[in-house]
Amino acid sequence: MAEIEREAMEYDVVIVGAGPAGLSAAIRLKQLDADLNVVVLEKGSEVGAHILSGAVLDPCGLDALIPDWKEKGAPLNVPVHEDNFYMLGEAGKLRIPNFPMPPLMNNHGNYIVSMGNVCRWMAEQAEELGVEIFPGMACSELVYGENGEVKGVVAGVFGLEADGSYGPNTEPGMELHGKYVFLSEGVRGSLSKEVIAKYDLQAGKEVQKYGVGMKEIWEIDPAKHKEGSVTHTMGWPLGSNAGGGSFIYHLENNQVYVGFVVHLNYKNPHLYPYMEFQRFKHHPMVADLLKGGKRVAYGARAITEGGYQSMPKLVAPGVALLGCSAGMVNVPRIKGNHNAMLSGKAAAEAAFDAIKAERSGDELAAYETEVRDGPIGSDLKKVRNVKPIWSKWGLTASLMLGGLDMWTNTLGFSLFGTVGHGKNDADSTEDANKHQPIDYPKPDGVLSFDRLTNVSFAATNHEESQPCHLRLADPEVPVKVNLPKFDEPAQRYCPAGVYEVVEDETAGPRFVINFQNCVHCKTCDIKDPSQNITWTTPQGGDGPNYPNM
Ligand SMILES: Cc1cc2nc3c(=O)[nH]c(=O)nc-3n(C[C@H](O)[C@H](O)[C@H](O)COP(=O)(O)OP(=O)(O)OC[C@H]3O[C@@H](n4cnc5c(N)ncnc54)[C@H](O)[C@@H]3O)c2cc1C
Repeated sequence: MAEIEREAMEYDVVIVGAGPAGLSAAIRLKQLDADLNVVVLEKGSEVGAHILSGAVLDPCGLDALIPDWKEKGAPLNVPVHEDNFYMLGEAGKLRIPNFPMPPLMNNHGNYIVSMGNVCRWMAEQAEELGVEIFPGMACSELVYGENGEVKGVVAGVFGLEADGSYGPNTEPGMELHGKYVFLSEGVRGSLSKEVIAKYDLQAGKEVQKYGVGMKEIWEIDPAKHKEGSVTHTMGWPLGSNAGGGSFIYHLENNQVYVGFVVHLNYKNPHLYPYMEFQRFKHHPMVADLLKGGKRVAYGARAITEGGYQSMPKLVAPGVALLGCSAGMVNVPRIKGNHNAMLSGKAAAEAAFDAIKAERSGDELAAYETEVRDGPIGSDLKKVRNVKPIWSKWGLTASLMLGGLDMWTNTLGFSLFGTVGHGKNDADSTEDANKHQPIDYPKPDGVLSFDRLTNVSFAATNHEESQPCHLRLADPEVPVKVNLPKFDEPAQRYCPAGVYEVVEDETAGPRFVINFQNCVHCKTCDIKDPSQNITWTTPQGGDGPNYPNM
């Protein structure tokens, strides 16, 4: 194929992803020097369209970035008033009182927010400072310089033929070059994955770990609504099958976020995370709350869970990994937005100093130091053992030993040192014949819904004529390996029903990828036991269109 010619635009800093990390970096750069040229590229149709968090926001990141956020009208309208934590059995519940919880678990001073709306507001702040923001622009490739440094990205490729070739309607996109490129793609970013592999940034660190989070927005009976109430649960329905738990956050306008996270290191390939979530809503505590209400939106997203010991090296020549591209979630608090913001600020400050010193295309070592030794490192280090203790010894041990470890870490020491994570999530999957299939109740259409009906509430859309963005390294693997060995778990771990095994009477089983349903959660890229699926960016503007997730 002939060399593709693309126009190139030059910037000081090119930022991939308009989440809290990328937008914070853009805002900080322009606060430091109004003359810097900064561009943010976002694959969603608008800023916020692909943002999915719980979300209880610890405002410490915003305080550091925009101290007068209240006066500037940031949409942090619902302070947390009530914090509940329950251990669930199938019909009962046990309240864990707040007093034995380490202080870091307290939600006092935090806000229940729509992170989509917070990002929309941050984008307005950035644009007022002169940042160029281009939504609907997926960054599909990295551009490397002569010395092997990252020098930019390719964005805005549209209209490829179904086989990936160029056709009459193909727009080849453009190259955006920067003195530095910030990857703030969120969890399991596709370009971030390439950079981590190319520069071996995971060397000497623990493997990254993940969960899949699913979330619905419900409008409920006003008599049951308690604005500012936060509830977390563990236990039923997952039991000992997998780690995870739920969140129920009462925001404004009689709306409630109901969400469920399943740790992706589960062993039983018959487990069906989406159906665990649906089953959870039938617990009497949840059913009583939701009865008479209606589900108005659905979405899903993976969440990083490896924490402190799994963060890769954050910089390579010309490039830095921000926020959840590097995995900065504090797992027991289920919070990463504050660290995403702080990382954006830190990366911006390092790039500003470097550019002022007429550097470019090198490693921003000052950013790495600030993340590891500053407030992000300190936040993550205290809780580093909770997830691996849970994975190794189960929920009860995690509550007792993990809780004790968080307490001692708050005082400055740990009895455990740093516990390792062991296998990655794909390798944790065991053969199907070692486990019993799980019989999930059929959704009732009132509290629980079948997957495809719920996906329609994510308003996801993909231009059908483009190539499938879910690439199989070997198309034979799903039917020849994954089906006999693991009962092809893609049929169940995908929360959007993208993958199916269709029985053909004459030709036998066939693996079908309904990529149009994809909600960009990245679970397939993480959990496929053969590591045969690679999630790549579809063309810009495609994917979910979340309202106020
Ligand atoms: C179910 C769930 C519940 C959570 N609850 C909370 C909570 O209550 N509180 C909290 O603080 N944190 C919570 N988190 C964690 C929080 O969502 C993350 O820590 C946070 O989103 C990280 O921010 P980020 O900017 O790094 O990435 P993201 O918020 O994921 O933003 C990344 C952006 O980059 C865009 N993008 C990605 N790749 C490309 C590309 N190649 N080209 C162009 N654009 C691209 C995406 O579309 C997206 O808009 C939760 C996460 C989940 C999944």
